[in-house]
Amino acid sequence: MRFPSLLGNERLKRLFADMPPEKVGSAIILAGGDGTGKVTAATDLATALLCTGADRPCLTCPSCRRMRAGTNSDFELFGDGADKAPNIDQVREMRSRSFVRSGDAGFKVFVIANADRLNPQSQNALLKVLEEPLNTVFILTCTNTMDLLQTVRSRCTVYNIEPLDEATIVSQLEKAGGYTRQQCRDAAASAQGSLEKARDILQNGQPSYEKIAREFSLSLGSEYAVYKAACAAGALSRDDYMQFCISLCSRLSQLIQQGGDTALLVSLYDYIQNQMNTMAQNPSVSALCGALAAFCGDLYGGNICPKS
Ligand SMILES: [Zn+2]
Repeated sequence: MRFPSLLGNERLKRLFADMPPEKVGSAIILAGGDGTGKVTAATDLATALLCTGADRPCLTCPSCRRMRAGTNSDFELFGDGADKAPNIDQVREMRSRSFVRSGDAGFKVFVIANADRLNPQSQNALLKVLEEPLNTVFILTCTNTMDLLQTVRSRCTVYNIEPLDEATIVSQLEKAGGYTRQQCRDAAASAQGSLEKARDILQNGQPSYEKIAREFSLSLGSEYAVYKAACAAGALSRDDYMQFCISLCSRLSQLIQQGGDTALLVSLYDYIQNQMNTMAQNPSVSALCGALAAFCGDLYGGNICPKS
């Protein structure tokens, strides 16, 4: 089976290349970061599963043509691709719709977007649907599988959707046109493997959390500059501070891969991961960034000397 619309993800594509449809199973999780193409992958997989041609998806059989026209009644997407998960009524609706007779393929494919954002009540309703012997393949997309109930997770096979490399993002942005190569490169460098995010940066400019995270990671050789960047992060909203942490961790892991001062970078990375975990306990952003600035001060004052 092929994924004709999904960019990158060669490992996943190789894994599915020779997989017969009956081996796919009836419950799948596609997990990956925001904007990495999870719903695209789910739609490709649904097209391949429902295809009645030889080379799945053939894109020419009646089922594939209906998929392309958005009129295949054996396929449904619940929750939208952006950030909404289905609500409990939609989960119940999904159950009743799975009893409606299917067409050529003899089964249906339902995609549940952002399943990790379903509340526990909705996840329990979903679990009941997954446990029923219905002629339906369920594809759940999610960013963090740990936000799914263990009972839901254990019924599914998990596949990861990987972030795109910068070169792929740059080439897609250039293909679309309208921006210089340098603008495309800068957007790709801040997009953490998400083409959607890169397009957003080109259209709307870099959000301030992204600029501060960039400033922070470029300032690691200077105690004062790092302190200044940490203080700037204190003006962010809670959501943006979380995004700042995510962006900073992604930049730190890139620096580690590039052979930076591993001890310093890893302790900073771990510290920020810890801050992200403690955000659930509702500390204020100014307390978090104050602690971050103090932590950086300790790092520089201790035995771990950053490269300048
Ligand atoms: Zn087909």
